[in-house]
Amino acid sequence: MTTTLPLQIATTLRKSPDVLIACHVAPDGDCIGASLALARATSRLGVRAVVGSADGVPEAFLDLPGADQIVSTPPVQAFATAVAMECSTIERSGVFADALKRAGTLINIDHHLSNAGYGHVVYWDKGAAAVGEMVTEIIRALGTPIDAGIAQCLLAAIVTDTGVFRFTNVTPHTLRLAAELVEAGGSIHRLVERVYETRSPGGLRLLGMALAAVRLSADGRVAWTTVTPEMLAASGARPEDTTGIVGMLRQIRGVKVALMFESTADGIRASIRSRDGARSNVIAETLGGGGHQAAAGFTLAGSMSDVVGKTLLEVEKELRAQ
Ligand code: 5GP
Ligand code: MN
Repeated sequence: MTTTLPLQIATTLRKSPDVLIACHVAPDGDCIGASLALARATSRLGVRAVVGSADGVPEAFLDLPGADQIVSTPPVQAFATAVAMECSTIERSGVFADALKRAGTLINIDHHLSNAGYGHVVYWDKGAAAVGEMVTEIIRALGTPIDAGIAQCLLAAIVTDTGVFRFTNVTPHTLRLAAELVEAGGSIHRLVERVYETRSPGGLRLLGMALAAVRLSADGRVAWTTVTPEMLAASGARPEDTTGIVGMLRQIRGVKVALMFESTADGIRASIRSRDGARSNVIAETLGGGGHQAAAGFTLAGSMSDVVGKTLLEVEKELRAQ
């Protein structure tokens, strides 16, 4: 039963000498914030907690307490307990996959619509707005007080995964929890300032280039753009500066599905955003990825034009299925 899982996880963590907490590749505020909060709470109880993120930490979250201790390569030792933070499959943790598999107890925490159900303990709540909400339950079960540092990490998770309380995943519980975290010393303003109100000059130039390159389907229901290595070089942007672009494409009146395609070392990475019932997760799952109804993604090998073509066919199928 879902209600007993936080308690079961807290009991396991309390007894554990150490814990490895791994984020998913291309980490966001939710997995970074939730992982740091859990690490801080367990450390208080004498558990040696290590947070791992294969792709490092986006600059906006570097001021969160403990962010400077996050490792991007797994320690060689085996951990008594490991936590996979919102990884729909173990492989979503990138280079940490083997370390997760080697742990004595593997705990799988997720709120995405698809999860492979791996691990010894599966805490999967599709109704949670953020894994930060779920980690709050675990921290409450641990009995560790929520100090200002933990509050800021949990707010980072909740504020970013709800798009600053704008998405349909916001519940009265989300808002009450946010209020409690502000009471505990967290600052929403500080987060918003760093995550949404700060861009590098290169990042802003890239945003302009990507928006200028937007394409629309004939019926106006699909918008997409691409980000190439040439655009990154010309703008002086870093790969993480693409955050937020796809959400802007969805703002176009009449658009139901928006996509951004970027070339990466692993292939073409696609970010999908949708509304009015179009299911991003279904499109992503068909192409080997996953996510939520309104936000999902996948990575596919192939040339940019092949991947774009293949994806647009799946988008059309989803829009017809509605
Ligand atoms: P974003 O477009 O912001 O990178 O991702 C949107 C959502 O989809 C996030 O919840 C993210 O975890 C999920 N997502 C993105 N790419 C993948 C993928 O390749 N596989 C899975 N399972 N989920 C993904
Ligand atoms: Mn999340």
